[in-house]
Amino acid sequence: MSDDVQTRAGFVAVVGAPNAGKSTFVNKAVGTKVSIVSPKVQTTRTRVLGIAIEGNAQIVFMDTPGIFEPRRRLDRAMVASAWGSAQDADIIMLMVDTVKGICDDTKRILKGLEKRKAERPKSPAPVLLLNKVDKVDKGRLLEIAAKLAETGLFEDTFMISALNGDGLADVLAYLGERMQIGPWLFPEDQITDMPARLLAAEITREKLYFHLRQELPYATTVETETWENFDDGSIKIEQVIFVERDSQKSIVLGKGGSMIKEIGAQSRKELQQILDTKVHLFLFVKVRDSWGEDPERFSHWGLDYNA
Ligand code: GDP
Ligand code: MG
Repeated sequence: MSDDVQTRAGFVAVVGAPNAGKSTFVNKAVGTKVSIVSPKVQTTRTRVLGIAIEGNAQIVFMDTPGIFEPRRRLDRAMVASAWGSAQDADIIMLMVDTVKGICDDTKRILKGLEKRKAERPKSPAPVLLLNKVDKVDKGRLLEIAAKLAETGLFEDTFMISALNGDGLADVLAYLGERMQIGPWLFPEDQITDMPARLLAAEITREKLYFHLRQELPYATTVETETWENFDDGSIKIEQVIFVERDSQKSIVLGKGGSMIKEIGAQSRKELQQILDTKVHLFLFVKVRDSWGEDPERFSHWGLDYNA
């Protein structure tokens, strides 16, 4: 942006129950995948920045882990990270899955927002995003909107489909106007603050989530161990999929290695798209007992082990 144009910038936190569509929304707003998405809950493990440009405004979205009742240590750290992002943001947007309605997790978040309002009465009121309008009828939508309006918590409400992009332009225009006047916070072409190695690991984790059933995804984590740029422009990436038990290792490998092969092929394909070059991807599976209690893994994601 040239100096004579007044620029705007700010942080927008997207919070909501698991599976509301927060990551889908942030990816759509940014225009490319910065945060992985899956039909399973608790896919997003840490705060992910997705940077969008709207006219002269730079909108820095903070995608957050879903807010839910924590059970494990990792859960607690994820929920703490989500609330932490909300506290740091200029604008908080609560996303509600209108298919699911006002679930217990959403109720818990409403309580949190009420508390925040009492503690910081001067900070701007949150914005409500009613998502998945492609899946529900008007009647239900209005019913949910009316119930949430009763809370008096929200400045404005938008009805959107993060999946097909309906209503998204209005949200972006609205946020663009509300960003504070000031210099942009990131270089013009930056879309996330996530290092490439971490994003690459996330892409593989996304494929795992699609392939593994039930609870197993939550017992896995992926790390990029080596990253080598070759002279011909291609990249060699070695990643380790950590599981907690031997039995899980054999599931991830699949019969004759068929599962890991499929996961690797899908991840490589997407990495090639994102990195726009040929990728040689090598996946290894290792058992690491209770990585979910390992402080090092938490700092790897920028999570607080003692949350
Ligand atoms: P998050 O946990 O809030 O980040 O949710 P995700 O972005 O990972 O999405 C959870 C699931 O909801 C995925 O299967 C998405 O494809 C789906 N989803 C997200 N937004 C929409 C939407 O607007 N309409 C429909 N039908 N599905 C959506
Ligand atoms: Mg998510």
